[in-house]
Amino acid sequence: MNEKQKNTLRALITKEIDELKLTIKRVKETVQPVAPDDAIGRLTRMEAINAKSVSEATLRSSRTRLSKLESTLNTIDDPEFGICASCEEPIPIGRLMVIPESRMCVKCIENR
Ligand SMILES: [Zn+2]
Repeated sequence: MNEKQKNTLRALITKEIDELKLTIKRVKETVQPVAPDDAIGRLTRMEAINAKSVSEATLRSSRTRLSKLESTLNTIDDPEFGICASCEEPIPIGRLMVIPESRMCVKCIENR
């Protein structure tokens, strides 16, 4: 990977981190305790509970991705960055652009 590609990748990761932080903030605001039955009616309450669990799942996956991207950003200057953890071949830049946090090439993931 050359410097130019690395800079492109760094900008891309930074942008995604910002977006994830925004998502987490927004979702957090929507995750509120569900009101009791008599206050909003049974069906609405079920809907509220469903919406809450969807939001919580989004929150969890966003946080996981955020921490992966942050650690990727911290290791981007390491010599082993972009090298497959399994076969030690360079991971194609195209793949890193889509999934910057990937540690393995597609071939090794498929062979696992
Ligand atoms: Zn590999």
